Amino acid sequence: MEEKRTFHSVRLEKEKCKACTNCLKRCPTEAIRVRGGRAHIIDERCIDCGECIRVCEYHAKIAVTDPLSSISRFKYKIALPAPSLYGQFKNLRSIAQVLTGLKHMGFDEVFEVARGADVVTRAIREKLRQPDLPRPLISAACPAIVRLIQVRFPDLIDHIVDIRQPMEVAALIAKREFARKHQVDENEVGCFFITPCPAKVTAIRNPIGHEKSAVDGAISVLEIYGLLSSHTRGHDTDESLVKASSWGVGWANSGGEASAVCPENSMAVDGIENVIRVLEEIENNKLSDLTFFEGSACTGGCVGGPLNFENNYVARNMIRRLVDKNGEMHPEHQVDVSMLTKYPLYNQKDIMPNTAMKLDDDIVEAMRKLEKMEEIYKRLPGYDCGSCGSPTCRTFAEDIVQGFARDMDCIHRLKEQLKIMAQQMVNLAQTTRE
Ligand code: SF4
Ligand code: SF4
Repeated sequence: MEEKRTFHSVRLEKEKCKACTNCLKRCPTEAIRVRGGRAHIIDERCIDCGECIRVCEYHAKIAVTDPLSSISRFKYKIALPAPSLYGQFKNLRSIAQVLTGLKHMGFDEVFEVARGADVVTRAIREKLRQPDLPRPLISAACPAIVRLIQVRFPDLIDHIVDIRQPMEVAALIAKREFARKHQVDENEVGCFFITPCPAKVTAIRNPIGHEKSAVDGAISVLEIYGLLSSHTRGHDTDESLVKASSWGVGWANSGGEASAVCPENSMAVDGIENVIRVLEEIENNKLSDLTFFEGSACTGGCVGGPLNFENNYVARNMIRRLVDKNGEMHPEHQVDVSMLTKYPLYNQKDIMPNTAMKLDDDIVEAMRKLEKMEEIYKRLPGYDCGSCGSPTCRTFAEDIVQGFARDMDCIHRLKEQLKIMAQQMVNLAQTTRE
């Protein structure tokens, strides 16, 4: 089984794993195996969607994030709250309570990721004016979906928006504005994203589309929730901290980005299994009349991220109450067009397919393995029960071909074999008696 080589936020705590196989079937990229009495994550296939964290009853799957104390690495610290953070507090009257609270926790400045979303909205609106774009254009906001496309739908890579995520854009602007305003070196300014999910942590440590992230760390909502909650009360609220539009804040919920970017002809889907079904349709050219597709790995969008505190339905409702788009100018008119050239908003590197699901790089060898796999698969019962430690009989056949499993790891094959052996012994005994 492969060992971890590149950074992944999602990890297994071996001693807590009970080998129950709950996570096995829920992984969208078939990245989990249960062998030798515990689960393993195949590093190359994991997209850090966090699905296994949600389903593990024993809390054996965890997300590695930065502790709050890590902000001390920088002389000046800026908090980048995800829009979904605002949905975590019941009875919030104003977003400014959260932003003021963050400043009281030791940050020198706060910069809303929703402001980054406003700039990205404007940039995507511009992009949609270009002729000959692949249709639909696919949102790059959820890194788990981008990685899913790399692993399972490489033919759709060209459809992915080539603009950096709102947290990256927020960090780029926040650092420059802070350094200018306070006449300090940008390198002394650290930006910390308050994250709802492990996918964003991995996107910071292991970026897609650019060499280095502008974000310096990711602190989970769960880590700061208690302290921040106490700081949302009892301070004079600084309303001037709120600069993002309601459109940007709306990105927290599934459909928020799509309605800001392309209200005319877009589709928003949440929950990774649902997203997979729609991506299959896009791959089969069945949705080519659609202009924009937004997919969120989490149910409800980022409010459903596994590192959030609040129930996603409650959080979704809170966001709805906080955003009031009535009479508010759309980012297309609010964000100055100069912002699109002032900062490096566009990907510097191509997004490449992830070949982890390929049988072999060599086509001849891949064909040979495929034949062998089909041969083995025919011998298997087809129950997809998971007792062999692979998610399906097909992946089990693949694991045997790749040398990660043995035929007899299948309990049904083992039973069959024992039956044959027992019969052979009976036959032998009879022959000896005669
Ligand atoms: S984080 Fe997602 S892709 Fe990675 S092992 Fe867990 S379920 Fe699979
Ligand atoms: S939907 Fe949002 S919270 Fe969930 S994995 Fe994607 S980016 Fe993270």
